[in-house]
Amino acid sequence: MSTIAFLNIGMHGHVNPTLPVVAELVRRGHTVTYHSSPEFRDEIEAVGGTVHLYRGGDQAFPDPPTPLTWMEALANTTVRRLPAVLDDLRAGRPDVIVHDSACLWGAVAARELGIPAVSSFTTFAFNRHVRSPTRASRDLLAAAAGRPRSLQGYLRARWQLRRRFATGGLPLFDVADIRQPLNLVYTAREFQPAAEDFDDSYRFVGPSIGARPADPSFPFDRLQDPVLYASLGTVFNADPQLLRTFATALAPLGGTVIVSTGQSDPDALGPLPANVLARRFVPQPEVLARAALFVTHGGMNSVNEALYAGVPLLVVPQGADQPMVARRVAELGAGLSLRTEDVGRSTVRALARRLLHEPGFRAAASDLKAAQHQAGGYRRAADELERYAKAGGPDRRPVPVDRRGGAGR
Ligand code: UDP
Repeated sequence: MSTIAFLNIGMHGHVNPTLPVVAELVRRGHTVTYHSSPEFRDEIEAVGGTVHLYRGGDQAFPDPPTPLTWMEALANTTVRRLPAVLDDLRAGRPDVIVHDSACLWGAVAARELGIPAVSSFTTFAFNRHVRSPTRASRDLLAAAAGRPRSLQGYLRARWQLRRRFATGGLPLFDVADIRQPLNLVYTAREFQPAAEDFDDSYRFVGPSIGARPADPSFPFDRLQDPVLYASLGTVFNADPQLLRTFATALAPLGGTVIVSTGQSDPDALGPLPANVLARRFVPQPEVLARAALFVTHGGMNSVNEALYAGVPLLVVPQGADQPMVARRVAELGAGLSLRTEDVGRSTVRALARRLLHEPGFRAAASDLKAAQHQAGGYRRAADELERYAKAGGPDRRPVPVDRRGGAGR
């Protein structure tokens, strides 16, 4: 049996897909440790992971949240956290480290301790079509010129890391795209744009969807078909007016319309038609299993979950990687994309009608559903990690830059 150490950044979208993998590894008899901030402690313990809380302060969230300020925050957090993380890992002696693709301290720790490492991609993997946000580019240079102190802060932190720890082979700038000899990507190969760009170190294991704690308060028995579902996720401050437009546009088409309001209070949407159920948080995978249509911001987890259930999508991207996800959904015919500024009741209703009545959308979503299931999910991720742990990784030495897999660098 192996000991596997997970290290992650403090974001739900990055933690969620790893939890069923942890549960599966524990079920198979492995020991799993998980370095985390306090807010995820209960969830990780619930799936059997042993939590090590980060010491040395919380991860600074960048303000304003741009790729450059994010890089600065990640590098500074690494400087602060690494000594205690290394102490924990030396004591626990894991066989493998699994870190998020943006978890710089996980990658440095693996190199410092000579432990085989795996990178975990909860977004698309990055290539010429899917540009890593921290990739050296003209935009990043322009941002650095506009915020020289952020650039200096980043370079200072990287210099400190380089002086004290083994950072050889890690990208100098592109810290959201740290690759390892094994890279787990939580979507199907068929959904990844230009999947042919990636070498064999990338394993597209598909959505990692496991059992979540049940929500007995959700009135599944009252739902009427067709169930139409709208959500703008948990991170972006969903504009109540936008959610209200979705609700009122969908109400005449649906049996029950479910609206997850996230950061907004459901009351802020105002009075709604009788067949609309608005809640801050709903059991999304179960709702999607009943849904005929999903209006979504295009968060990677939400879209993976919808395609896992074969549900056509109307994607209204709000930021981050969502425009890219929206483009891919539309390109594959599994849905349509609509800009926020073009959202209006009649437009949303017309597009929703097409998604419900033109069979091509459901057919494309069904094809992707098959691909998402065949990819293997958390069981395949656990298989990959077991194999890797047993073999001691492909190579115990740090990976030289010119051998790093993938394309588009
Ligand atoms: N989610 C949920 N219920 C809700 C809203 C969201 O369970 O009412 C879950 C959803 O299943 C997904 C995650 O929250 O796993 C949202 O992640 P995503 O990457 O789609 O968007 P984010 O919230 O990070 O913008």
